[in-house]
Amino acid sequence: MDLRLGRVRWSIRCRHMPLSRADGSVPSRSEKGKARAILNRLRRRYPTIGTALDYESPFQLLVVTVLSAQTTDENVNKVAPVLFAAYPTINDLAEADPEEVERIVYSTGFYRQKTKSIIKLAQGVEEMFDGEVPMDLDELVKLPGVGRKTASVLLAEAWDVPAIAVDTHVRRVALRLGLTDQSDPVKIERDLMALYPRSEWSGLSMRIIQFGRDVCDAKRPLCGKCELFPLCEFPDRFAFARLTPPR
Ligand code: SF4
Repeated sequence: MDLRLGRVRWSIRCRHMPLSRADGSVPSRSEKGKARAILNRLRRRYPTIGTALDYESPFQLLVVTVLSAQTTDENVNKVAPVLFAAYPTINDLAEADPEEVERIVYSTGFYRQKTKSIIKLAQGVEEMFDGEVPMDLDELVKLPGVGRKTASVLLAEAWDVPAIAVDTHVRRVALRLGLTDQSDPVKIERDLMALYPRSEWSGLSMRIIQFGRDVCDAKRPLCGKCELFPLCEFPDRFAFARLTPPR
């Protein structure tokens, strides 16, 4: 038997085998149906979804993601072109004078910490990956300051690689909707992967993140205006529906 052909067939079969959840169970048809209904409604709310941050390369996306903490995307989009004009290559930023970088990123807040982070990031890409941002989640998370969430966003945004980014919004909303009963981000990621086809992974998490910001707030979810209300399992949804201000 041709071993290479065998491996290809095996890998195709694996790609189509149902994925199991973190607890080892496989979602039922009705659970998958509910999951699909949730995504369909989110897709109606957000027909297109993607980052509002401007970038021209995977490395620039990493940098603007760091800069975007605790500030608006508009603010980052004003600062980033100045930064990338001053430091056009990863190596330039790796060797930058921190005080000069601080002056440029000052208006994004937490400028000292952000300066340290982006210089370390540049040094990490240079030293660990010869100046090339790796297109692999396990490699990306080796970079200083890059967690699974940032790595997943990068894979999805920069290379269109299916990935589920689990941040605080995805964690909260997925739990309330009954898409998971886990609290660990890696297990939540696994549960969502088991519920949805690979082609939906990236769009799903980006939409949930936006929905968590716009509607399903941590402290004051707008349950009275929520299209996912009939599919939701959050015990307090009725109380929050009564508190939701009228349109
Ligand atoms: S009904 Fe409320 S808790 Fe449930 S998803 Fe909608 S906003 Fe969130």
